[in-house]
Amino acid sequence: MPVKINLIHLQRGAQSLVGEIPVADLELGPDDELVHCRQPLRYDLTAELVGEGVLVRGSVEMELELECARCLRPFKKTIELPDYGAHLSLEGEDSVPTLDDSIDLTPFLREDIMLDLPRHPLCQVDCAGLAPTGEIEAVEGGSGGNAWSELEKLKFDKE
Ligand SMILES: [Zn+2]
Repeated sequence: MPVKINLIHLQRGAQSLVGEIPVADLELGPDDELVHCRQPLRYDLTAELVGEGVLVRGSVEMELELECARCLRPFKKTIELPDYGAHLSLEGEDSVPTLDDSIDLTPFLREDIMLDLPRHPLCQVDCAGLAPTGEIEAVEGGSGGNAWSELEKLKFDKE
């Protein structure tokens, strides 16, 4: 179910919106190799009319099934937006579309969750990956991302 806010109801006072959006309705696009969205997005929000728009505040969360980019171990992580806030303008150029006196909050929630999806999930920050301990450095060097050697290079350039 999309998250609809009825503007007529809103004129009578703040509305509370609590529920879930099934993954299918979120249209998050093709499944990433390492990031799987299979659980619904849960929301607990309050909407109120403020000025020429609707102010939405509350919390949003969604559980993800991830695979570690280094060791390929599956793990779960919940994206939490505990201080979610959005101001949807009802007037002017970037006003949100209304249908039957309602606005649909779904695309905004989708966008904010998408921004928070991990691009390079790691089961733990210092995951050693599949290689035996002694070979970690070689593996990391091969992927081209050793932060310390990059720093050293920068220092040299300055001197
Ligand atoms: Zn890992």
